Amino acid sequence: MKLLAATDTGWSPATDPNNHVLSGELLMPAEQCDKPHCYCRREFISVTTYCRTMHAQVVDLEITDEQLEDIARAYITELYPDDPLEDDDVNDLVHAMISPGPDFPVGTVIERWGYELRDIRDNTLSDDDD
Ligand SMILES: [Zn+2]
Repeated sequence: MKLLAATDTGWSPATDPNNHVLSGELLMPAEQCDKPHCYCRREFISVTTYCRTMHAQVVDLEITDEQLEDIARAYITELYPDDPLEDDDVNDLVHAMISPGPDFPVGTVIERWGYELRDIRDNTLSDDDD
């Protein structure tokens, strides 16, 4: 199954220098707020350490739907301990983990701008980082 993981190059840009993903950990696009220039639109979040990065690599992993659901449940329980665990939330999270991968060849490093994802080697989106 194609999923997103932190790159194994040892270099992964982060908006917070004290908050680094570990190479290879599973990522998904971070939930974004409604501020148009907020960093959250550029970020992927680790489903295990909750660290954030702006690069994600498409990897092919042997993983079952049940394992993905377990990861999603653990994530929700950890981040929202006071909320009841809803199946819809678990499904949404699994969807967030699995939906980007099929659009890219394995090994591609991608970045995001809101809901748009692109190969970092492409140059088709506006870049107003500066
Ligand atoms: Zn935000």
